[in-house]
Amino acid sequence: MARRHVLIGGGAATVAAAEAIREADGGAEIVVVCADPHGHYSRPGLAYFLTRELPEDRLFPFTAEDFRRLDVAWIAEAAAAVDPAGHRVTLQSGRQLIYDRLLLATGSKAIGTRVPGAELDGVVTLDGMDDARDIVRRCGKAKVGVVVGGGITALEIVEGLRARGVHVHYFMRKDRYWRNVLSESESRIIELALGREGVEIHAFTDLAAIRGRGGKVAAVETIDGDLIPCDIVAAAVGVRPRIDLAREAGLPCDRGVLVDEYLRAGDPDIYAAGDIAEIADARTGHRQLEVLWNAALLKGRVAGRNMAAGADGSGEPAQRYVQDSPINVTRLAGLHTTIIGTVGSGADADLEGLSRGDSQIWSELCERAIVEAQRGDAHVRLALGEHAIAGSVVIGDQTLSYPLQELIDQRVDVSGAVAALEAPEAPIVEIVNGLWADWQAGRARRAPARPEPAC
Ligand SMILES: Cc1cc2nc3c(=O)[nH]c(=O)nc-3n(C[C@H](O)[C@H](O)[C@H](O)COP(=O)(O)OP(=O)(O)OC[C@H]3O[C@@H](n4cnc5c(N)ncnc54)[C@H](O)[C@@H]3O)c2cc1C
Repeated sequence: MARRHVLIGGGAATVAAAEAIREADGGAEIVVVCADPHGHYSRPGLAYFLTRELPEDRLFPFTAEDFRRLDVAWIAEAAAAVDPAGHRVTLQSGRQLIYDRLLLATGSKAIGTRVPGAELDGVVTLDGMDDARDIVRRCGKAKVGVVVGGGITALEIVEGLRARGVHVHYFMRKDRYWRNVLSESESRIIELALGREGVEIHAFTDLAAIRGRGGKVAAVETIDGDLIPCDIVAAAVGVRPRIDLAREAGLPCDRGVLVDEYLRAGDPDIYAAGDIAEIADARTGHRQLEVLWNAALLKGRVAGRNMAAGADGSGEPAQRYVQDSPINVTRLAGLHTTIIGTVGSGADADLEGLSRGDSQIWSELCERAIVEAQRGDAHVRLALGEHAIAGSVVIGDQTLSYPLQELIDQRVDVSGAVAALEAPEAPIVEIVNGLWADWQAGRARRAPARPEPAC
């Protein structure tokens, strides 16, 4: 009899899992339960929709025909409860679905601001399509916006408001932008670029309250008592994985849903993937969350393969999830930026949780040598492990982005170049190009497989 897979989500991890299941088992029944009425779309793409660079219809990577070919039944409704013992999902309407294998991939939700006035009309976050449309609609009338928070989403909202003619005040709780991932010089590059776009940056500033008139945002009051009149207040202070379904079903949870190396969520027939899956890093043993599109795709793919495995009766999951170096190729204040691997440390005062487009691995820096080179807005930084490059940030000119992804992912042995990289005024770009050429020509080898020391 065909195995029935119920996938709760509808985002990146869910669709990747559906594809993997279909590839492995042509006869399986796949049912997707998705609470978002807009279905499956690119969440990172929402930033480019806000800036008018992408029309809304370009945010949908799958056509109705693609889904028909994938042969999934799509239920546009929220799942309300999971009963692992009965292998049953109850939907909000009360309808029940029986599953053989279940995937939880409910993503994460923005944490809003909690200051007095947070309930006023005009206080926004950016989670999904409805939020993006709402921001666009408000920009039609708004003149001034205040953005609080950090990481990528804060700047995506800043950029979106600017592109739509809204004057922006950006509040940072401390001295600089995204301090647990970027170095001081990198934060300054981004802040200078924001300044050139006309954004007013307020360091050491936070919201004390939002003042309203007639139920709508009229101004913000800062912790120093200043009043800034505005029409929109956007909070991008972090996200929290949506784990209620899993927790209420008695599955093991901490900040996310705890999964093993096969992405099983404490039950042989339940898997979790995407933003909600919290998994131990094989190198450090630390449990990690990642709020990254590519990581969600990879986890979804692995979970899907494992859900489909043993359709012949053997029942064993087939594939371990191996955490690559997390990577994000993004844009900060108009500057193309690549962040790979381990590059920062600690927490960021502007964020209460992970920000979107973020990985905890980025801020897990132990004792590592850091080397940086800068030419104008073009910047490259390497975090050097004992034998290999542990992480890198490339801002502006992206020529080194792909070579560094490969050198880091393949753990290419760079021990022979460390002294040259660490020398004062080292020609870092040329040295990295040399390492890359050696690797491509087969003249370089991989660093010893020994894991990097745990922090
Ligand atoms: C504005 C924005 C910008 C981003 N920028 C980047 C970036 O630059 N780079 C990057 O790598 N990543 C970025 N991300 C993050 C990336 O989009 C996520 O990591 C990825 O989408 C996670 O995939 P997922 O499948 O886990 O969850 P999601 O894609 O969030 O999908 C979860 C789905 O589950 C549904 N759901 C929730 N609860 C239920 C329920 N009870 N029943 C049924 N359905 C439910 C939701 O409606 C949603 O459709 C960004 C995200 C946003 C919102």
